Amino acid sequence: MSDDLFKSALSEREGVAQPPSVNPYWKKNQRKKKEKLPIEQMAERILLGDRTVLSQAITLVESISVEHTAMAQELIDKLLPYSGNSVRIGITGVPGVGKSTFIESFGKYVTGLGHKLAVLAIDPSSERSKGSILGDKTRMEELSTDPDAFIRPSPSGLTLGGVARKTREVITLCEAAGFDVIIVETVGVGQSETVVKSMVDFFLLLMLSGAGDELQGIKRGIMEMADAIVINKADGDNVDKANFAKSQYQAALRLFPPCESGWEVPVKTCSAIKKINIDAVWGMIEEYRNFTTGNGYFDHHRKQQSVKIFYDWMETTLVTIFFDNQKIKEEIDRLIPEIQNGTLSPYIAGNIILDQMKENGRK
Ligand code: GDP
Repeated sequence: MSDDLFKSALSEREGVAQPPSVNPYWKKNQRKKKEKLPIEQMAERILLGDRTVLSQAITLVESISVEHTAMAQELIDKLLPYSGNSVRIGITGVPGVGKSTFIESFGKYVTGLGHKLAVLAIDPSSERSKGSILGDKTRMEELSTDPDAFIRPSPSGLTLGGVARKTREVITLCEAAGFDVIIVETVGVGQSETVVKSMVDFFLLLMLSGAGDELQGIKRGIMEMADAIVINKADGDNVDKANFAKSQYQAALRLFPPCESGWEVPVKTCSAIKKINIDAVWGMIEEYRNFTTGNGYFDHHRKQQSVKIFYDWMETTLVTIFFDNQKIKEEIDRLIPEIQNGTLSPYIAGNIILDQMKENGRK
């Protein structure tokens, strides 16, 4: 290539020397800064509420590398005894219902009371490159600059099960760092609300007035999971409609079976944008905590959740180990044609595979 090509007006003129680096060690320091602290020290700094280390720890937890997973596990084990001292709130609702506006107003109110708030998201479809819909700091401008709030978007590129596990671990880290109110946000259109329900103490369903449930895409099952329904956008011309929707939801809830907690699911209206009734929503959550702590359900529920996680983990892990086994794979491949042509019953085939598994176990 000819040198002439570079002789354009945009090229650097000869004779203009590059200024010396202001800090010749800058790069070296940068590299050092990225080095991870030993797990012991990470745990200590998290317990002191160090947010930089908390963020690093979350990145470690979210990593899919085997080495990082082992380190994250060690960290979680160290911090588990210091976690749990929070109220975990799940918030769901269809896109546009006002989740981020609500979390911003609610979050500012809660930190104003002296609490420390972490906002996490469960959104298995999110990819960081495309920008996550949930837990996005740009959607919660005021809260993202609040020193008592910590916002973390959903980890990307994972299955729902993967996101769920990581989010549970992130909750542990945030609690150990002193966050005493945890919000887990999700979109109320798929399976993710069941997962959120499985990791929170209180599940809040945000709704809109003037639209039937079908229009809001909220399934009956999700309403049944709710510990409270809050109808947002109860402001301006919408107040009457919101109150009407409130009475409709109250009537609908009366048809549902009573909650195991003994709690009667309230329906409230609020305006996230005008900050109306936000205090009442927090008051209701506090009331729930007092009520369920009083009758023992709060603790019982958390214990149930931990046992369920244990079973779920065993189930998925055992199935994976089973189907990854080469001998089992070969045996299945051998039996399938016989099942297909009707010479072997699927149940007998299943028993043959089980015998094979037991045989493998004995070896
Ligand atoms: P999300 O998709 O559920 O997170 O919803 P957003 O918080 O992004 O809100 C969707 C739209 O509804 C935005 O234009 C908000 O300004 C508006 N919005 C949110 N809360 C309220 C409210 O309480 N009243 C009114 N009138 N509009 C609201």
